[in-house]
Amino acid sequence: MSRQVKRLPEQESKLYSNSMSECIFCGIVSGEIPARKVLESDSCLAFLDIFPANRGHTLVIPKIHVADIHGAETNTYSTVAAMAKDVADLLTTKLSSDGISIFQMNREAGWQTVFHLHMHVIPRWKNDLLHKPWDIAPASEESLTEVLQQIKK
Ligand code: 5GP
Ligand code: ZN
Repeated sequence: MSRQVKRLPEQESKLYSNSMSECIFCGIVSGEIPARKVLESDSCLAFLDIFPANRGHTLVIPKIHVADIHGAETNTYSTVAAMAKDVADLLTTKLSSDGISIFQMNREAGWQTVFHLHMHVIPRWKNDLLHKPWDIAPASEESLTEVLQQIKK
């Protein structure tokens, strides 16, 4: 049975999910909140997103609470990425998808809404209705040089 999650206003939503004790995904790990599990290991869990972007949209999380990529040990991030690869292979085989898109949002500015690290694994089909969230436009030589200088200095 799926649990209907009420969308909270942005401010409350942030407060709600920033604390580990009230984190939705920690609730799923502990079994307090039901989820449709796709894969599970000692360190990670994959389950269906209840607001899917496409059929089979799956989230992969570490079982320990870390807010985002910056809060995660490299090893924790690697185990999540490894399970995302297994989920991608599984969904492609079982759902006969034509492709897979993987998203991993960090912090409010990066479109994260649940502040427990997760990867979105989204099956794709030719001509599905999803579209890229950015428009492509060529950068100037100067802007590429300038940003690389700042990154490397
Ligand atoms: P974000 O926006 O942080 O990258 O992704 C959070 C994702 O969690 C969203 O795609 C949202 O649909 C999903 N989500 C939020 N609450 C629940 C829940 O209670 N159960 C499940 N399975 N997914 C949830
Ligand atoms: Zn959590």
